[in-house]
Amino acid sequence: MTTSASLPADSASEASAGGSVTDRLVEANQRYAAKFTDPGMDASPVLHVAIVACMDARLDLHAALGLELGDCHTIRNAGGVVTDDTIRSLTISQRALGTRTVILIHHTGCGLERLTEDFRHELEDEVGQRPAWAVEAFRDVDQDVRQSMQRVRTNPFLLHKDDVRGFVFDVHTGLLREIDPSS
Ligand SMILES: [Zn+2]
Repeated sequence: MTTSASLPADSASEASAGGSVTDRLVEANQRYAAKFTDPGMDASPVLHVAIVACMDARLDLHAALGLELGDCHTIRNAGGVVTDDTIRSLTISQRALGTRTVILIHHTGCGLERLTEDFRHELEDEVGQRPAWAVEAFRDVDQDVRQSMQRVRTNPFLLHKDDVRGFVFDVHTGLLREIDPSS
């Protein structure tokens, strides 16, 4: 038995002779589409929820939260930070596509805990221009979740700010821990 034989049949990790990672993913898509039936949904999330989460590869939002296709919007970036672009997506999510609940998910062992704003200075030294964006590095993940909740709750463009909750996902146990916004 090979290692690949123990993986799910649809996994893009399944060994295929040659080809790039992208080629393997496109092959996996062909297997997916072969079994796909159009659920006939419109673009509005069934649960009226938008989730902002870190892009971390260990965080499988649909599996971790029992989500199904069509249930929610997922907005992901490095850190799960509420940036101007996150607000852009949340504003469209609420005003054009009917979501009312916002869930913020950061996690243990985030790469942003190992960075500082020096990252921007190093980039500037290397390429001759400073990025317009902040790194949004942090030391205290709980405090960072609180700051993200606060950015959502105080944003003037959003319609629904009364149902905003924040969590830290433990990458070792798979459990969410809720963050008290007031502590
Ligand atoms: Zn992260």
